[in-house]
Amino acid sequence: MTKHTKKVGVTGRYGTRYGASLRKQIKKAEVTQHAKYTCTFCAKNTVKRTAVGIWQCKACKKTIAGGAYVVSTPAAAATRSTLRRLREIAEV
Ligand SMILES: [Zn+2]
Repeated sequence: MTKHTKKVGVTGRYGTRYGASLRKQIKKAEVTQHAKYTCTFCAKNTVKRTAVGIWQCKACKKTIAGGAYVVSTPAAAATRSTLRRLREIAEV
């Protein structure tokens, strides 16, 4: 099928309502919250959001706590790397 919206995408259902900027902002969240993500346990592209901040892999049934609209937020990635670094220091 060909692309039928030039830029509004999923927010086309809001029509001309709520203002262009707000629709643009919500588009980012709606696209990422409905997208499938790669599972860190089984490497399949089957992780979907079940509720706000809750993500589940359809293949291995593992549940992951993540961001509200994306699996991993920049803050979560930063925390992960900091914890790993501190743990390495503590082990030495
Ligand atoms: Zn999985």
